[in-house]
Amino acid sequence: MAIQERRTEAFVAGGTMRRFVRTRPVLLVAVVLFAGLVQFAGLAPIPALIGFAVIALAVLIREAATPGADETSIYGERTAPLLADRMVDAIIAGLSEPAFALAPDSQVVAFNANAQQIMPGISRGEPISFALRVPDVLEAIRAVGASRQVHHVEFFERVPTDRWWEATIAPLLLPGETPNHPRHLVLLTLRDLTPLRLAEAMRSDFVANASHELRTPLASLSGFIETLQGPARSDAPARDRFLAIMKEQATRMARLIDDLLSLSRIEQKAHIHPDNSVDLGALVRQVADGLSPLAYEREVEVKIADQASSLLVAGDRDELIRVFENLIENALKYGASGRRVDITLAREPVNGGAKEAVVSVRDYGPGIAPEHLPRLTERFYRVDIGESRAQGGTGLGLALVKHILHRHRGRLMIESTPGAGATFAVRLPLLKTSALMSISQ
Ligand code: ADP
Repeated sequence: MAIQERRTEAFVAGGTMRRFVRTRPVLLVAVVLFAGLVQFAGLAPIPALIGFAVIALAVLIREAATPGADETSIYGERTAPLLADRMVDAIIAGLSEPAFALAPDSQVVAFNANAQQIMPGISRGEPISFALRVPDVLEAIRAVGASRQVHHVEFFERVPTDRWWEATIAPLLLPGETPNHPRHLVLLTLRDLTPLRLAEAMRSDFVANASHELRTPLASLSGFIETLQGPARSDAPARDRFLAIMKEQATRMARLIDDLLSLSRIEQKAHIHPDNSVDLGALVRQVADGLSPLAYEREVEVKIADQASSLLVAGDRDELIRVFENLIENALKYGASGRRVDITLAREPVNGGAKEAVVSVRDYGPGIAPEHLPRLTERFYRVDIGESRAQGGTGLGLALVKHILHRHRGRLMIESTPGAGATFAVRLPLLKTSALMSISQ
């Protein structure tokens, strides 16, 4: 039967040897017969060799088609339960997570491609402990082998990278089990909990950071209120000074709440692609004009070089205003010492040859050390917290920029040479002509 012809790799080598041993007498008789025919009946050596080869092949093929009573299956039982072997392989291969079938003594019976990917050294017939050295999981495999109850174990690995896993260890009962012939395996599947854990950690960090950022101005406000109610009650000059600081703290809280709400709104719409036609040239000029009082105050000259005739993108106008406000304001705040900010608008080719809109904001201030660059768009990440606070920063500006650009299928590229300034370049897909026609209709 076709099913019975199947053998799993684990015993192919041993089975071949046994088959050779079983067929040896027949082959010996054939050798003697053909040698006799060559010697005494005048048969030529080549036809004799061909005749022998045909007989040998026929004998071997027949042997291969018949499972021997002495063959042991991969499950360590006599009379190969080949249908079950096939089922186990199919089940394991069909699972989307790393999965292993183990004998009750924890020898590896089968595993899928995902399992091999995370444990390249795994091989059939070896104890799982050679590849997976997690005592709790090994203990659970033993326990499941004995109790046949499902176990879940969470564990953490540091090598090659930090990863959290959930191991589910379940009994796998095979057909044909009788009290005298128990036929069961242990199914081990691994679920990668790392993305979940990282998201949880980010969420709790975010809440802790947001509370901390709000708590500081709040504590300062309550301190001033108490002072004004008590010792400074009738001190008019002190009251004016304190009220000015209180206003500044209240503004800082309002800015923070505003940024937090914007972030959460943008996250909610992350999957909706904005589709209004926005002229980036006009938008950037409008933002730069709006920030001219700040530029004047910081004594910075802002220059716009528009190298593109028109840069139309599909976007949300208010969100894109927010992007360029943040970038130009940062250049004016942190790069003021360079006394100059250059804004360039251009079309540049992307990989596929099509062009995209590129708006870069370059300042000539102190720049940013390379180790900070990859983290700048993280929420609340600041190179210098003191300076950011002194400049009225919330630490959420670049995180907002990143999220807005992500929703617009755009990118933010940051380059900086410490001591020579920084360039923040926004790259956005240009509006296609066909889309433009349908919008204007
Ligand atoms: P913030 O509200 O603190 O300005 P951002 O997310 O906008 O927050 O920026 C994060 C940090 O990146 C800033 O605190 C600052 O340290 C650094 N940064 C941003 N832009 C510049 C720049 N043009 N030059 C130097 N440092 C910058």
